[in-house]
Amino acid sequence: MQYDHGLVWLRRDLRLTDNAALAAALAQCKRVYCAFIFDAAILEPLTAAGIVADRRVDFIHRSITSLDASLRRQGAALIVRHTDAADAVVKLAAELGVDAVFGNADYEPYAQQRDQRVKRALLQQRRELLLFKDHVIFEKNEVLTGAGRPFGVFTPYKNAWLKQLQESDLTKRDSDKRSNRLAMPPCPLQIPSLTQMGFALTNLDQLPLPAGEAGAQQMFEDFKSRIDDYHQARNYPAARGPSYLSVHLRFGTLSTRELARFAHERSRSAGAQTWLSELIWRDFYQMILWHHPHVVEHAYRPQYDHIEWETSARGNRNFAAWCDGKTGYPLVDAAMVQINTSGYMHNRLRMVTASFLTKDLGIHWLRGERYFAHQLNDYDLAANNGGWQWAASTGCDAQPYFRIFNPVTQSVRFDPNGDFIRQYLPQLANFTAREIHAPWLVSVKRQKEAGCVIGRDYPKPIVDHADARKKTLKRFKVKR
Ligand SMILES: Cc1cc2nc3c(=O)[nH]c(=O)nc-3n(C[C@H](O)[C@H](O)[C@H](O)COP(=O)(O)OP(=O)(O)OC[C@H]3O[C@@H](n4cnc5c(N)ncnc54)[C@H](O)[C@@H]3O)c2cc1C
Repeated sequence: MQYDHGLVWLRRDLRLTDNAALAAALAQCKRVYCAFIFDAAILEPLTAAGIVADRRVDFIHRSITSLDASLRRQGAALIVRHTDAADAVVKLAAELGVDAVFGNADYEPYAQQRDQRVKRALLQQRRELLLFKDHVIFEKNEVLTGAGRPFGVFTPYKNAWLKQLQESDLTKRDSDKRSNRLAMPPCPLQIPSLTQMGFALTNLDQLPLPAGEAGAQQMFEDFKSRIDDYHQARNYPAARGPSYLSVHLRFGTLSTRELARFAHERSRSAGAQTWLSELIWRDFYQMILWHHPHVVEHAYRPQYDHIEWETSARGNRNFAAWCDGKTGYPLVDAAMVQINTSGYMHNRLRMVTASFLTKDLGIHWLRGERYFAHQLNDYDLAANNGGWQWAASTGCDAQPYFRIFNPVTQSVRFDPNGDFIRQYLPQLANFTAREIHAPWLVSVKRQKEAGCVIGRDYPKPIVDHADARKKTLKRFKVKR
């Protein structure tokens, strides 16, 4: 199909390179406009809750500002609005007189409903909404079991994913040759400032997280030199093991195809192959969310909706202590300080802190999931929900409920010298590598020597792990 005018509606794909919707629009339309809408339906609940310094909004703002600059270098510009996204896109399509709106598919329930609304409204104006696969390598029903059902277990899904993979799945959606079709929109082009939208600048400048396509490429280049060690280094939060690319993947400042292609081509590198598996986990959880939208509010396994979680006043105090990094378990607390101050948490620690909340404190996984949703720069509904349900043992292919992480053993194994703990909890810095994981076991004399008396300078453990373990084993014996 060929059109005169098209509008590319950028959402979680804030890049011009290897963008499926943009490439399709440039191939099918004579003139192409680009727009990004700060969706009031998503942002207003944040400002209403008093959250004005939100790193995600700041990151998006920086990324679209640099995207606009790239478009301007090509004689075009980005239209940016701050309002209800669905209404704005339909209105813009009419104002610009486009024949079709091009976008990349989003599998979250809210986005699916919004896109249906836009599609219906555009149809009434005899315009189309065309959605493309871009965020993942395989979507929806593309990878199914031999019986034609969605997978519920990761390893067979991964095997089927790899078996099905063709070169074309990873090929760049190239549009460079047609970039002269990008057009300057005949409408107001002012990008609203963070303040105009009710937000403030954040500490993003102090974090190693450059925004936009250029920032993404810079971080990817850095990771390329480390990827071969990924399988060994990724479990140690004090080491520079993982890619730290999750925010760029979340907002699409980097193409998933480009990353998967790079990893897939390094078939002899154990690090690259392990990293490719992580990208497949990402597809897996998107697929789970699309097939089972009930997971947003409920356990993937319905019997676990009957678990009696801790809701007492003590439970609430424990939840607050967990959020504030004051549980008395150093690895858990250091991880919570990491997320609270930077918006990032290492994967191993996401597992440890989620397990601690659900299995040591007996608190509903949804409360932790919501807390992470507010804090994480890379918050992604599918991955966060999947990760929480995995740790809480309520999800698909989850950690069995009787395998309960011991927060001290995890600390000894994955932060053996206590370097990560010292970085985020300087009050514990003078304890030795042997003492730091469970400082309450150290004599008061030694605590004084180390300048940190437990119960005064750092909290005593708020629960006893062995007791909590017994309670959790009982709690999971729900009627099936
Ligand atoms: C409780 C919990 C909550 C989580 N919440 C999120 C979230 O909101 N957003 C998010 O992107 N990831 C989430 N994860 C998965 C994982 O922890 C992060 O993707 C990872 O830590 C991001 O750091 P990185 O980019 O350095 O990862 P790397 O180790 O370099 O991995 C590369 C990419 O693969 C993807 N990935 C890796 N592990 C997973 C996984 N288990 N599930 C899905 N995708 C994965 C991510 O896109 C990541 O950027 C969560 C995990 C747990 C246990």
